[in-house]
Amino acid sequence: MKVSPRDDVALMDGYHSPQVDVDVRLNTNEAPEAPPTAFTEALATDGVHSVAWHRYPDRSATALRTAVGALHGVPAEQVFCANGSNEVLQTLLLTYGGAGRTAAVWEPTYALHSHIARITQTAVAEGERAADFSLSLDEVARVLDEGRPSVAFLCSPNNPTGVVDPPDVVAEVLRRCEDIGCLLVVDEAYGQFAPASALELLDEDRPLVVTRTFSKTWSMAAARLGYLVGPTWAVDDLHKVVLPYHLDAVKQRAGELALRHREAMDERVERLVAERERLVAALGGLPVEQWPSGANFVLFRPHRPDGSVGDAEWGRTVWQGLLDRSVLVRDCSSWPRLEGCLRVTIGTPDEDDAFLAALEDVLT
Ligand SMILES: *Cc1c(COP(=O)(O)O)cnc(C)c1O
Repeated sequence: MKVSPRDDVALMDGYHSPQVDVDVRLNTNEAPEAPPTAFTEALATDGVHSVAWHRYPDRSATALRTAVGALHGVPAEQVFCANGSNEVLQTLLLTYGGAGRTAAVWEPTYALHSHIARITQTAVAEGERAADFSLSLDEVARVLDEGRPSVAFLCSPNNPTGVVDPPDVVAEVLRRCEDIGCLLVVDEAYGQFAPASALELLDEDRPLVVTRTFSKTWSMAAARLGYLVGPTWAVDDLHKVVLPYHLDAVKQRAGELALRHREAMDERVERLVAERERLVAALGGLPVEQWPSGANFVLFRPHRPDGSVGDAEWGRTVWQGLLDRSVLVRDCSSWPRLEGCLRVTIGTPDEDDAFLAALEDVLT
């Protein structure tokens, strides 16, 4: 026999991002290069070989949190680490959301904000971004007034659009959240690729946390490590909720060791930003609509062969055409308002050239 899940879970779709075996994989915004060899070697000797495997790991992950704090100029008490920033988001919603509470999002945005909200039985108040995917303060006010959320999510640079919310807009959203006792979560999974960060707004008296991840910039998607920086009271709350010993010893060590390679990572970010601008310029010569990106990916919508605006069916055709040429990108048609849009991750110059050649082949 089968046991039924909760009614709302039975009705849910899981989170889907197809993994297909291809030559050029540009669909999940990973870093195109492995981390520096000096890091993997140090992790083998200083991490895997020296872990006390029969003991539970440091429950408070003090060394890791201290290293992350040093990166951002804050003490360990203002840092919460978890298994990917997705677990950070989940812990936030388990702590500040839940039955009888509401989370606000402005679509289109990262699907897991509303998905994890629903899983934790948090109601979702959905706002809309403007036609150019910017955030209007009137729409923010409407959603905060009507939804009275206890948690509000921004994502900057936004996934999947790449659009960066200007610092003055984020500051104003924060002021309005403060007025209604709502925690503002700014998801900065792609923060290092952008010119602005909400980290500057952090203050012990403000209801703001900023989430980041090792998955993208730090070339460590396989490690599942993310974190937030925020006020100490928020970090204390989260530690009450998250499972004890949730961060294994090797992961803690991996994060700590990776942070010793900051310069190498900063160089990679610079290279990826330059490569993004090259790809944007090349896309400009093809029959597609595209949006300005502050991330390591670009959202674009191919025009139909007759020059008209692309639709979901044509987007799917182009996606399949690229796949037939062994290039995998993300089909964003299932996101609200992104019918016919595809998202390409910035890869190595060779991978990006393969993508551009395949796209040109499909479209012309
Ligand atoms: C990739 C991504 C994350 C999650 O990453 P983890 O691998 O769980 O750290 C979080 N937010 C956004 C917007 C992302 O694109």
